[in-house]
Amino acid sequence: MPNSNGKMPLRLYNTRTHRVEPLTPLQPDHVRIYVCGLTPSAEGHLGHARSFLFFDVLRRYLTHRRNGYRVTYVKNVTDIDDRSIATAQAEGTTYDAVISRHYASFQASMRKLGVLEPDHEPYATAYIPQIVEMIGELMELGYAYATQDGVYYRVAAFPRYGALSGKNVDELLVGARIAENEHKDDPLDFALWKFAKPGEPHWDSPWGAGRPGWHIECSAMSRTLLGVPFDIHGGGYDLIFPHHENEIAQSEPLMTAPPMAEMWVHGGLLNFDGRKMSKSLGNFEPLSALLQRHDPLAIRLLFLQTGYRKPMNFTEESIAGARAALEKSVSAYRQLRGLEPATMGGRYPKQSLERARTLFFEALDDDMNTSGALGAAFEHVIGGVRGLIESGVGSEAADFLADAWSIFGIAPALDRQPSADMLVRIGDSVLLVEVKQYVDARWSPERQAEAHANLQAKIGDRLGANGQPLEALIPAAIEKRLEARKNKDFAFGDQLRDALAAEGITLRDSKDETTWTLAGG
Ligand SMILES: [Zn+2]
Repeated sequence: MPNSNGKMPLRLYNTRTHRVEPLTPLQPDHVRIYVCGLTPSAEGHLGHARSFLFFDVLRRYLTHRRNGYRVTYVKNVTDIDDRSIATAQAEGTTYDAVISRHYASFQASMRKLGVLEPDHEPYATAYIPQIVEMIGELMELGYAYATQDGVYYRVAAFPRYGALSGKNVDELLVGARIAENEHKDDPLDFALWKFAKPGEPHWDSPWGAGRPGWHIECSAMSRTLLGVPFDIHGGGYDLIFPHHENEIAQSEPLMTAPPMAEMWVHGGLLNFDGRKMSKSLGNFEPLSALLQRHDPLAIRLLFLQTGYRKPMNFTEESIAGARAALEKSVSAYRQLRGLEPATMGGRYPKQSLERARTLFFEALDDDMNTSGALGAAFEHVIGGVRGLIESGVGSEAADFLADAWSIFGIAPALDRQPSADMLVRIGDSVLLVEVKQYVDARWSPERQAEAHANLQAKIGDRLGANGQPLEALIPAAIEKRLEARKNKDFAFGDQLRDALAAEGITLRDSKDETTWTLAGG
């Protein structure tokens, strides 16, 4: 049913009801979102980033003038947990030093990925009074009890337990055991407050000094910062059970009108070459390192190509494909703006722009089908540049593309100078363009060797230096850089070095010479 503006409202899959439903904000034109954030007690990887990237796009679309919502977006930081305490003890430092280090790195990565800052980014340890207060309320109503090692939530007291995840308490109890060091009444009961062991960080509570359990932090912070009920509670698919189930069990008994969140929205998980990324599988790569090898905006585009709820497999080939698609869109944009002569496609008439617009927004309204929306833009705009220009709607089409790409958070790519502009600066060398297309440090040795040979042939051709080894051609580019530096054009010299670095070719300046290495080669 169209909403009051006569528009079809955005529909999202609600884990709570197992249906795609229209989003109807509880407060007029204001959408309140809580997303479970990172526990930065170790380095984050790209899998952690996937759901944050999705909620960033959702938030951008909700605030886009088509929807016009005000959004309040809360993403917490779980800044105390068993692992940060253990790491701190092993390293002879404090838990918050461990957290700060990893979180600073993750935030820098989020900025590179163009993820907008949340409106509130609460650290759990800054909300201890609210957490303690909430545990007290649960105690009073008989949902919690204290033992010798902490305060526990009594799952049996909440009959709806398991409703979100579709799990049945009797089934959960099969095989469930109470660990030797835990003193609780029932295997399903979970900790709200853990008493501190000697030497552990702790805060005061009426039951004893200790620290909060993970689940109660989110219940207390969402209640404090958004108020319950709110509109959307989000997170990765792996948080549905037990984390989100437990949040509901803690929050809803204290509410007059549950549910705590109208919609529960969950993003699919990410695999790497078909497997979960983990240190134990030997395929772990910190997000910060991955972002040095790959264009962050290409990573965004890659995620958008897959439905947000689907499991996704990340491979080096898939990111190369996404980068090529991103570059194609940049080139189309420049042609539509009249910055370059049109060379791309020509089959589509003027109405294809209208078609693109309609299909694009219809797809997003349909449970954030970003892949369908991208498809519409690529087929009808990027694939039809010449036709659009000939029909006199080139700049209108460019405006649409800029608008669409800003919803996706990849618009900054459109302002990039294409490599070709750099070429003018280095005379007849085509090094940068060729390197961009042919080198990827993570390819297999055979593929790198092949790429190496192709690169050599291409550069040799253009420089009229056929047969010369790459080892001689890259120094030619280095020469150009040195020349620039001699002429005090340091900006250009650095630009050239950075451009090479982005492509896996590292220049190292020593006192007398510049050496270069091909990453992974
Ligand atoms: Zn949470």
